[in-house]
Amino acid sequence: MTMPNSTAELDRAAHLHPYTDARKLEAEGPRVIDRGDGVFVFDEQGNSYLEGLSGLWSVGVGFNQPRLVEAAAEQMARLPYYHTFAQKTHGPAARLADKLVEMTPEGLTRVFFTSSGSEANDTVVKMLWYFNNARGRPEKKKFISRLGGYHGITIASGSLTGLPWNHTDFDLPAIPVRHVTSPNAWQNARDGESEADFAQRLADELEAVIAEEGAETIAAFIGEPLMGAGGVIVPPEGYWDKVQEICRRHEILIVADEVITGFGRTGNLWGCDTFGIKPDVLVMSKQLTSSYMPLAAIAISDEIYQGIADNSARHGTFGHGFTASGHPVATAVALENIAIIEEQGLVANGAAVGAALQAELRRRFGDHPLVGEVRGTGMIAAVQLCADRSTRRALAPEGKLGGYVFERAHDHGLIIRNIKDAVAFCPPLILSEAQMHDMLDRFAL
Ligand code: PLP
Repeated sequence: MTMPNSTAELDRAAHLHPYTDARKLEAEGPRVIDRGDGVFVFDEQGNSYLEGLSGLWSVGVGFNQPRLVEAAAEQMARLPYYHTFAQKTHGPAARLADKLVEMTPEGLTRVFFTSSGSEANDTVVKMLWYFNNARGRPEKKKFISRLGGYHGITIASGSLTGLPWNHTDFDLPAIPVRHVTSPNAWQNARDGESEADFAQRLADELEAVIAEEGAETIAAFIGEPLMGAGGVIVPPEGYWDKVQEICRRHEILIVADEVITGFGRTGNLWGCDTFGIKPDVLVMSKQLTSSYMPLAAIAISDEIYQGIADNSARHGTFGHGFTASGHPVATAVALENIAIIEEQGLVANGAAVGAALQAELRRRFGDHPLVGEVRGTGMIAAVQLCADRSTRRALAPEGKLGGYVFERAHDHGLIIRNIKDAVAFCPPLILSEAQMHDMLDRFAL
């Protein structure tokens, strides 16, 4: 029951929520989260929850970092808004672009800003189309993505995403994209298949798809170094080496979607560092501002930049950009957030506490009869629930067990996320080892 005029009641009557069963929300009302403190959030009744998913895989520095509040307030007072169209800029956008070029893997030399990961991936699609047109390759337009991959929900990014609930009844995909098999061994490895053989089979499939479509029609391969929203999928050993070798040979660009993996999530600054990826394009968001402000950034290689720059000169403008591209408050918050990550050694903390988290999850739950496997690296992990690990059979209907565990965790003051029967952990990078144990105690209850 909710009270008249309460937040819950107003919300229930007027708010269509993203990623929510609207009828269930009408019946039960929403859960109202009211404030945050470190790795905890509190509901209206004052109950505390350890945020085991950092909000949406995003609040690296915790939920009440005063320096980010000050950075936002200072920028609001100085210049709350300005755009970056038509040769204008401002301090925070320029400084952040410079900082990101310095931080991102070698070879990425320019940065474009958007407000969300979806807008960023839509922008990548348009940039690469524009680039290939500029280079006289108008037929090189298709994308290769993976089933289970998540790249957003707008028309192009949602097309790249490889999850059925993002396509069905939305009439997606709407751009030319081929989805190849997910490197999800739990789901897709054959009985007795080694990691190396699984990686090779995925590589052979990629070769076959390229041969079928024609390499001259394919612009890029996009992938998350480690899939997040698709169930925390760590690729098999050798997978990225093989994918990159094939793509380079066929002049297919590599887009690393680091929206979740960026800024220390996998134990290194970038997922590309963890998996040995040399991207032509790197997309980041979420921990870029710890989601205190909406912001995403796309770092591109010099080759792509030069193509775009030439074409913009030809047309008199690069006809793409958002009112909020490089928003001063968002970019100021990102700079401060990155300063905190660096000064407080949060990538190293994530690596250390993440290693302990991985070991502890396996030690405590690896042999549980309802646990098929524990996977992950650094500060991102999943516990795969099932009825029978030898056959990898789910307890029917699939997802019910995960949903049950999600609800019970909530009752015990822990917010996690279930992706069907995979229960995901992605705690803030500031998590201490004691808090990591507290998190798993709440999960075990
Ligand atoms: N790419 C990845 C890897 C993501 O995980 C997400 C969101 O979770 C997106 C893109 C889309 O970002 P947004 O929700 O900001 O549009």
